Amino acid sequence: MRPSIARPAGPHRAGTERPWTLAAGQVAADLGTDPVAGLAPEEAASRLTQFGENVLVEQGRTPAWRLLAEQFASTVVVVLLVAAVVAAALGDLKDTVVILAILVLNGLLGFFQENRAEQAMDALKAMTAPMVRVRRGGRIRELPAAEVVPGDLVLLGPGDLLAADLRLTESWALRVDEAALTGESEPVTKQVDPLSEIDESMLADRRNMAFRGTVVTGGRGVGLVVATGMMTELGRLAELLQRHPAGPTPLQRRLAALGRAMAAGALVICAVVFAVGVARGEPVERMFLIAVSLAVAAIPEGLPAVVTVALALGARRMAARNALVRKLPAVETLGSTTVICSDKTGTLTQNRMQVERVWTPAGTYRVSGDGYAPVGAVVPEGAAMSARDTLLERLARVAAACNDATLQSAGDPGDSWTVTGDPTEAALLALAGKLGVEREALDRDWPRVAEVAFDATRRRMATLHQGPGQVWVAVKGAVEALVPLLAPADTALAGQVRAVANRWASDGYRILALAERDLPAVPSRAEAAESGLRLLGLVAIADPPRAETAAAVAACREAGVIPVMITGDDARTATAIARRVGILDEAGEVLTGAELGRLDEETLAERVTGVGVYARTSPEQKLRLVGAWKDRGAVVAMTGDGVNDAPALRQADIGVAMGVTGTDVAKEAADMVLADDNFATIVSAIREGRRIYDNIRRFVRYLLTTNSGEIWVMFLASALALPVPLLAVQILWINLVTDGLPAIALGLEPVERDAMRRPPRSPTESIFARGLWQHALWVGLTMAAVCLALLVGARAAGWPWQTMVFTTLALLQLGHALAVRSERESFFTLGARSNPFLLAAVLGAVAVQLAILYLPALQRLFDTHSLSPFQLALVLVTSTAAFVAVELEKWIIRRRSRRSRGSPA
Ligand code: ATP
Repeated sequence: MRPSIARPAGPHRAGTERPWTLAAGQVAADLGTDPVAGLAPEEAASRLTQFGENVLVEQGRTPAWRLLAEQFASTVVVVLLVAAVVAAALGDLKDTVVILAILVLNGLLGFFQENRAEQAMDALKAMTAPMVRVRRGGRIRELPAAEVVPGDLVLLGPGDLLAADLRLTESWALRVDEAALTGESEPVTKQVDPLSEIDESMLADRRNMAFRGTVVTGGRGVGLVVATGMMTELGRLAELLQRHPAGPTPLQRRLAALGRAMAAGALVICAVVFAVGVARGEPVERMFLIAVSLAVAAIPEGLPAVVTVALALGARRMAARNALVRKLPAVETLGSTTVICSDKTGTLTQNRMQVERVWTPAGTYRVSGDGYAPVGAVVPEGAAMSARDTLLERLARVAAACNDATLQSAGDPGDSWTVTGDPTEAALLALAGKLGVEREALDRDWPRVAEVAFDATRRRMATLHQGPGQVWVAVKGAVEALVPLLAPADTALAGQVRAVANRWASDGYRILALAERDLPAVPSRAEAAESGLRLLGLVAIADPPRAETAAAVAACREAGVIPVMITGDDARTATAIARRVGILDEAGEVLTGAELGRLDEETLAERVTGVGVYARTSPEQKLRLVGAWKDRGAVVAMTGDGVNDAPALRQADIGVAMGVTGTDVAKEAADMVLADDNFATIVSAIREGRRIYDNIRRFVRYLLTTNSGEIWVMFLASALALPVPLLAVQILWINLVTDGLPAIALGLEPVERDAMRRPPRSPTESIFARGLWQHALWVGLTMAAVCLALLVGARAAGWPWQTMVFTTLALLQLGHALAVRSERESFFTLGARSNPFLLAAVLGAVAVQLAILYLPALQRLFDTHSLSPFQLALVLVTSTAAFVAVELEKWIIRRRSRRSRGSPA
């Protein structure tokens, strides 16, 4: 069922056609919504069943059957299928059946892998779905966008991504960027008045509407949902729904290129094997099957898919640790991150704000209490004051009035309070409560009639309230943002204010100044009210660092990743916190936004590596910092939450958005979203990123080596005029068991001990760097040498040499799987149990291989013969060769690096 209010079902449809032509109150009445309290929760629930979820029907998703079919679509597989069918026609039914069975198994394996990857990606997408603030039953709630129904009263603020089409009922300088829908890049200022009939032709002209998919860039608003899901304007624009499938990641592109190069090489070798075999008098069909099977086995066409699986499963593990990856390549990039630029508030600190001290021109106070509960005492510091401090009372009123947060009591005996909105404002609301000021009463007597919203560049906020015969202006903001606006009578206080602010900031407090004034009437521009202010006082808000921050910063440094703080807060406050968590050492510099503004790009690029803290910055400056770091060749992770952070998040190598406090726009722009807003989560994501990259390298190394072994055995046998070592089914079987489970299990290796003790890998480093090619070559040649020596010896002794070579090659590869678990550490240091999957995969494969040797039915299928105990023992001993060789290689590497570390520099 399509959700729509235009359907003739339900009692709330009449007249909501073209809601932009109706008065807002009329639309509310038509929709059956209380314009103040919103829908009743029960009514909302019944509408959800009636209209369905507020989702767009997805197109462009690969259906399962296509995914399955694609597994069999590669050219070599098709050639092999045709060859198998031809063989069957010529009478060799047995081979055909086995080949088909192995191909089906292979295809299913690939299918389950890819399907798993898609499911993991879907789960991730669901987790990063946007939330919507609605008013229902008189309370503000946050809902997943899918649960919004027609008639809901939605609250809008800067950075919100609209989840449905709305008829606006309130607009406080609400500006919306509708580029996604209309292509118009200038934000549109919204209004609430009804429009006349003629205005309806263009979406862009419906200024009292706001549409799904557009973005609030400033101001505040409230609107009634008039359409959800596919009935929204966005839903109707079918072409906008075509999802752009995510392109391959850089790593996948590189691997695909490798696959093509290897395919070309393999085809040449297969042709040689075929030609030599035929020249030596082998039957043509048989040689053809062998050659094509070798091609199927040797071409690593599955690699990009296996990489997707590794990345997607890695992303799932990260999600379990609160790092939600939105773009798959980020998993890859994370491991090479060299700089983390982090916000302070909420990321490094707890964002559990509490006002601890208050200063007014009449005195200083300490505030007691716990969390956001509006209960506690405000007591004068030092000698008790005799007179009543009327400024303190007025300060409390401004704190409550110039405020968009809400505190709601859960009503339980523990009296926990839930907060919506900005924690800084919630802390002010709690302070007001402690001083006996009730927000509701204030709103009743002095309703808000206009406002100038807070933004990170202005660093202040003003609200205008209509009272009997006069307008009251309440203002709060950063000290430097308010002091210049004081009335001449108060400017004498400026020195004292700065001194207090200085002292508090050095203790790590966040400081706000509060002020007010009276006006006869609302000025035509609300901004005009921000002058001639009467200073009421300062508040000091404690926001201590998170418990885990210091350890995460230390881990960062050990891993060669530089932590940097970028904050809108005061330089002294930022410095105090940065010192406490270890971001700033004695040598680290602090730069303010103003100083940053005076540096040209060149000087900035020179100095950027020495600065640990940027304070009083504007979000736009984040973009410059990303640029400066990137010029230095850094891989930058940048955090952000606001609308203006989006460009920097996009520009950074890893844009990191806050899941709790972040706006939808920031989340859309980010590569990764932190579900807990926590800096430590970025560090653990980097660790996971390094692990995943290591694992990808592990199985690339493994697969290339096994393939090289198979090719060399067949090729060298041809070149040395030996008999053809392996049959088609044997080649395919080796490829299936070794490329299948052991390779997957290698992707599940736990993180290596030194993963966070080495410097980040260079972003330009190829996956084949550090000897991967050479490894595949020499180990493959070793495998071939062992097999061919065995072939010659066994043939001379009159033993079943083909069975012995077949088994030896399979076991050599399994031994290799155990050895490539690490590029340095010995298998025995790692212990077999640290990757039980691999152990199980290897033992399982050995068991099946033995079954093929000794079970008569399988013997017939694979053309094998029972080996005598002595022959089997010989096979088992020779097949440890790869394991031993690679362990030896690692031992040499370890010894060399110990020497070079031990030798004087
Ligand atoms: P970060 O950038 O690390 O998140 P931040 O949250 O302190 O730091 P902003 O939110 O940009 O940065 O705040 C900058 C300054 O603006 C604060 O130091 C404070 O003085 C002032 N400020 C913060 N919130 C408000 C608000 N709701 N109303 C008025 N002024 C505010």
